[in-house]
Amino acid sequence: MQEIQKKDIKSMTLPKLEEELTGMGEKAYRAGQLYQWMHKKLAGSFEEMTNLSAQLRTKLGERYTCTCLEPVRVQESAVDGTRKYLFRLGDGNLVESVWMKYRHGNSVCISSQVGCRMGCRFCASTLDGLERNLLPSEMLEQVYAISRHTKERVSNVVVMGTGEPLDNYDNLLVFLKMLTDEDGLHISQRNVTVSTCGLVPQIRLLAREKLGITLALSLHAATDEKRRKLMPIAERYSIRELMDACADYFESTGRRITLEYSLIGGVNDTDRDAEKLSALAGPLGCHVNLIPVNPVEERNFARSSAERIRSFQNKLEKNKINVTIRREMGRDIDGACGQLRRRTMQAMKAKEPLSDFGGRKTC
Ligand code: SAH
Repeated sequence: MQEIQKKDIKSMTLPKLEEELTGMGEKAYRAGQLYQWMHKKLAGSFEEMTNLSAQLRTKLGERYTCTCLEPVRVQESAVDGTRKYLFRLGDGNLVESVWMKYRHGNSVCISSQVGCRMGCRFCASTLDGLERNLLPSEMLEQVYAISRHTKERVSNVVVMGTGEPLDNYDNLLVFLKMLTDEDGLHISQRNVTVSTCGLVPQIRLLAREKLGITLALSLHAATDEKRRKLMPIAERYSIRELMDACADYFESTGRRITLEYSLIGGVNDTDRDAEKLSALAGPLGCHVNLIPVNPVEERNFARSSAERIRSFQNKLEKNKINVTIRREMGRDIDGACGQLRRRTMQAMKAKEPLSDFGGRKTC
């Protein structure tokens, strides 16, 4: 008999789950119980769902997979307690997520794809291209698995790990709805941020959803000419088109846009760059988040000097722009996006031990 492909039950919204269960001849309220086990109690298997009959649990196991991520490596920063998690997916692929503790709560940064095809020149996640999109369940499970491991509540989620979330739009949208759903973890929409390199049609689509989430745009340059040198996506959409789409997002959701700007020595960090950035951020009241670039071995970009960063920030402040410098978290644990995954994959290929990654290894 041909093996039937099992369906991914953790990616199903509650209405979809009700449809599935009634289709199996079960009562609709069972879907609510099942949903609660998966998305509130964060169960990793059908066996844990003790208020469902053993017979139903067996039936579910025959038809569905209950995605559950187990960390294969956890590194904890000796500096600030930030943890990097490396998860193995069902097909053997690896993704990384980060857990950060702030005074206002715990934040998880998740990946949205295995690899990335956007090709930003300073980014480690894109060096090997895109492997595949992550399913809603695989995005949710990064949050759930960290919550199970830390035994602490997650209050903020940022989609800023490996991958371009808007290049995985449909799955991202299901993920966002389920993450903020009152029948699930019920994370406040205001506490969710999606970061994009700037896919204009998808920004406009997301605007129509009227979710209260924050959109962060990775701008990194204030002229098309400079941006094209750093980000291939700038060949496709101009800064003008991008800012128009951001205005649309702001108007339709009431949420201010964050502009991310990685400061790269001698490339985009002059006072003139700061003036141009102010002119873009000002009219929409954008918040600017400056990121001292994280040098990646394979790329030859250097960080701006501390003095240059301060001067850049001052210029923005003089122009009444709300600006912060991204606090560096977990500097001792493969800080830059995608580096833990990449180095682990390289070590696995070379059959080297996985011991020299810095930080404190907890798993
Ligand atoms: N694809 C999305 C989200 C992933 S990257 C995006 O482009 O926004 C999250 C942020 O880190 C982006 O602003 C990205 O440009 C930035 N980033 C990537 N590599 C970096 C590096 N080496 N140094 C500093 N910032 C980096």
